[in-house]
Amino acid sequence: MSWIPLPDHLEEVHAKARWMGQTHLRPLGLAADAQGGPHPPDHPFYQWYADSGLMSASAEADLTGDRHAGDRWASRRMVLTMEEHAYWDRGMAVSLPGPGLGGPTVMAIGTPAQQEQFLHPFLDRSRPRWAAFGMTEPGAGSDVARISTRCKKDGDGWVLNGAKAFCSNSPRADWVIIYATIDSGLGRAGHRVFAVPPSTPGFTTPVLEKKMGLKAYETASFSLEGCRVPGDHLLGGEAAYVDDRAKAGFKSAMKAFEVSRPGMAAMAVGIGRAAYEHALAFVADNYSTGRPIPRYRRILDRLGDMDRRLRAGFLLCWKAATLNDHNQPAGLAASICKAYAPPVALEACSLAMEIMGDAGIRADSLVEKWFRDVKALDLVEGTGQIQRLVISRHLLDFPRN
Ligand SMILES: Cc1cc2nc3c(=O)[nH]c(=O)nc-3n(C[C@H](O)[C@H](O)[C@H](O)COP(=O)(O)OP(=O)(O)OC[C@H]3O[C@@H](n4cnc5c(N)ncnc54)[C@H](O)[C@@H]3O)c2cc1C
Repeated sequence: MSWIPLPDHLEEVHAKARWMGQTHLRPLGLAADAQGGPHPPDHPFYQWYADSGLMSASAEADLTGDRHAGDRWASRRMVLTMEEHAYWDRGMAVSLPGPGLGGPTVMAIGTPAQQEQFLHPFLDRSRPRWAAFGMTEPGAGSDVARISTRCKKDGDGWVLNGAKAFCSNSPRADWVIIYATIDSGLGRAGHRVFAVPPSTPGFTTPVLEKKMGLKAYETASFSLEGCRVPGDHLLGGEAAYVDDRAKAGFKSAMKAFEVSRPGMAAMAVGIGRAAYEHALAFVADNYSTGRPIPRYRRILDRLGDMDRRLRAGFLLCWKAATLNDHNQPAGLAASICKAYAPPVALEACSLAMEIMGDAGIRADSLVEKWFRDVKALDLVEGTGQIQRLVISRHLLDFPRN
């Protein structure tokens, strides 16, 4: 289903996403949930995904996408695909090979040489590759100014010391974006951004977090202990952080979020739509077989309300993506859709569970799984409260950086 008329080239993208979701993501996601952990990086599905050109397409979208004139549809394509993928399985969707949030970050602050060095390998289809994004720390989540991972210049390289938490796909990543500080007293002005291969000595083996849902991808914590990286792994180079560009590191994260938050919000819509359609089918089935559903009229009213809010959520994502596609400031629109969609999706899962009664709460029911999967969407890439703070700052024209 698509909620808006699409040009033919997007219809095709949407149909492919639906096919992949139905054929691969749903069954693999259920299997991962049952086994309590992700499929290994050498699972044939990931190799197929790389072979098929889908991984390279995601890197190509970063390289030629919204910040360049070449592709005016990259962000809307992403929103459409992520909504559909999450409809089938959000955990598997996040596990897909590609640069992930590392892509927009490298594009936001990396030099052309670094874009080539870190993103071009993803164009090669010979094996699946992942990248990861490490901002969160045990002592710094929403308040990124508090990150305490230290970076110190050492000869022509840098030495990193600290700890990162909740870093998705990091155990299988070729490189991880690491936000560190030259001096935690400087707040955001002290931030520096590195691309660090986990094979670097001092990058400790990631320890998997035990998540409530989303078993199909790894989220892990790790430490950096005297981890030495070459100078060219500092994204943008030292010149990118001088004078009035001191906050370039922090701004690169905000720019990356501007691109990625509409996709995260669309994933919430996708899970919500799955739960909503499931509940609708349940009601229709019961109606046609004559089994009475208590408070029938009231339930139809609430389903109608859910449908309206999910459509609104999708349109908010679409608007933010359209702004990104046209190189317009999209921070406000990105925060609006990210603030709006996850609670709507959570409510859709809750409503489905309520309508289905005991059938919804059973541990082998899809609704029960969606209920576990959906909650994190309000946390990742900035919580709902943080989005509302960003929105109010935009509306009142308060400084945002
Ligand atoms: C499944 C999953 C995957 C993740 N993947 C990644 C990843 O790949 N990379 C990464 O860097 N991080 C990742 N994260 C971490 C995520 O970005 C953080 O959980 C998020 O930023 C919130 O930080 P926190 O959990 O430390 O909560 P806190 O920042 O401690 O917040 C706790 C509560 O306080 C509220 N709060 C905080 N500050 C304010 C304020 N100023 N005003 C009002 N309310 C406030 C928050 O909204 C929240 O409700 C992931 C998290 C999850 C759950």
